[in-house]
Amino acid sequence: MTDQSKDEKLIREVKELTDLFEIAKTVVSTLDLDKVLSSILRSAMDIADTPSGSIALYDEESNMMIIHAAKGFSKEFMTQKSWPVRKGGLTEKILRNKYPVIIDDTKRRRYFNNPLAKAEGIEALVAAPLIFHDKIVGILYVDDFKKRKFSKNSLRLLSILSSFAAMSIDNAKLHEETFKLAITDGLTNLYNHRYFQEALEDEVARAKRYNLYTSLILLDIDDFKKLNDRHGHQIGDKILKKVSKSIQKSIREVDCASRYGGEEFAIILPEIDIESAYVVAERIRNSIITDTKGFFEDADSDVTVTLGIASYPIDALDKDELIRRSDEALYYGKRTGKNCTTRYDKLETHYDNDKSKPHKTISEVKE
Ligand code: GH3
Ligand code: MG
Ligand code: MG
Repeated sequence: MTDQSKDEKLIREVKELTDLFEIAKTVVSTLDLDKVLSSILRSAMDIADTPSGSIALYDEESNMMIIHAAKGFSKEFMTQKSWPVRKGGLTEKILRNKYPVIIDDTKRRRYFNNPLAKAEGIEALVAAPLIFHDKIVGILYVDDFKKRKFSKNSLRLLSILSSFAAMSIDNAKLHEETFKLAITDGLTNLYNHRYFQEALEDEVARAKRYNLYTSLILLDIDDFKKLNDRHGHQIGDKILKKVSKSIQKSIREVDCASRYGGEEFAIILPEIDIESAYVVAERIRNSIITDTKGFFEDADSDVTVTLGIASYPIDALDKDELIRRSDEALYYGKRTGKNCTTRYDKLETHYDNDKSKPHKTISEVKE
């Protein structure tokens, strides 16, 4: 090797290292997974000198591949956001062997049988498994529309990039799980109090911005202390879980059910006025009765709940006020026999809009 070619080789290697270092920095500093994958894909296409490529994540539960980054394909090809792992196909081969597959001419490989990929005219590709802790989390593809060979050096660099991609995917999953843990109540799997406060703040702000209703249900299990005393804390916990499930199945996907505290729950109903909120609250109350029927042998231990509802902007104009109004309605229900839903707007003492006047609570009126 001449001095000049030695120098050129060295310069090339330093450039490769610098490029890799830049990507490594993105991997550790960006939390947006798709952004990281997109930048890894760009480098992979650069290295392999291909006009197109994609990164797909593997979902073990559904046995599906889901595209998270793709470049250089037709619109038709891009409509395929996910695909099932087909028996005997290229993807299954990679998942099984955990080795990269290099194809110089796809026409000569029978396992290259994805109809969309064939129609797209892909004639050469490298598909590298993204492995982290011995598990395949996805596949990186670089594709060309003509037959060709891939150099050893580009394959080596692609394998380093694959490790980066695998690390980012694992990192993002960990981040997602940690975030989920931080906003979830461990016993009931509903949202926790902190998340509820933030969600209600956001929802009221949204309602203000777009002139919408938002209703809030506060729910408290009746005589839960007695149930605990009679049957034990563990049975009490089981009831809390059952009640949570009944709530969850009685509401829409966009509603937000949370454990407000011990045996109290809060349910945010975006874009729902008080009449409809009443219907939802009654549906929840009845399904809790039905779902817990027969849980105890003695009829004395029936599980019932009391609910209070209030609505933005009729009953309250901000988050804290909305909570207070729902709570007052709930408290009224507790004082007048439990196992019922109370609308704040139906209470005899109406909320006085003039803030300078002290607000009369129901208990003050009654006493
Ligand atoms: P009311 O009808 O007025 O709501 O009466 P109550 O007995 O339900 O209300 P109280 O506030 O007197 O008691 C609430 C009970 O809930 C007391 C507490 O031991 C129980 N509790 C709170 N958190 C948990 C929990 O996580 N697990 C169990 N098993 N019990 C809990
Ligand atoms: Mg309570
Ligand atoms: Mg209670």
